[in-house]
Amino acid sequence: MGSCLFCRIIKKEAPSRIIYEDPEVVAFEDIHPQAPVHILVVPRKHIDSLLQITAEDQDVMDRLFGVANRIAKDRGIASRGYRTVINCGPAGGQTVYHLHLHLLGGRQMIWPPG
Ligand code: AMP
Ligand code: ZN
Repeated sequence: MGSCLFCRIIKKEAPSRIIYEDPEVVAFEDIHPQAPVHILVVPRKHIDSLLQITAEDQDVMDRLFGVANRIAKDRGIASRGYRTVINCGPAGGQTVYHLHLHLLGGRQMIWPPG
């Protein structure tokens, strides 16, 4: 997946502001933040989208949400509340086809998200 932007960020071949990494998961600042806190949490394994998740990926999905919770606590947005989003496919608003969890917080979210 040499052409995948997030694979290149994970391998540090493309610039980013990485704030957390472990053997399975990397988290970095979104380049166009939509909230005071806007972090992308991604698996090191290239998975195109949520649609491609299989049973063997359940652990990594748990890790994505676990890391998001941890960052939310570290950034001080956990008690007030925050939002996690996974956009899937064109109508879901996905623009980068490497699975990622958006962690958004630090402001009041609205619903529906649009
Ligand atoms: P999505 O639209 O759900 O696929 O989300 C892709 C996200 O990646 C958007 O919020 C973009 O702002 C973000 N993004 C695109 N390029 C970069 C980059 N080079 N570094 C960090 N975030 C990026
Ligand atoms: Zn990738």
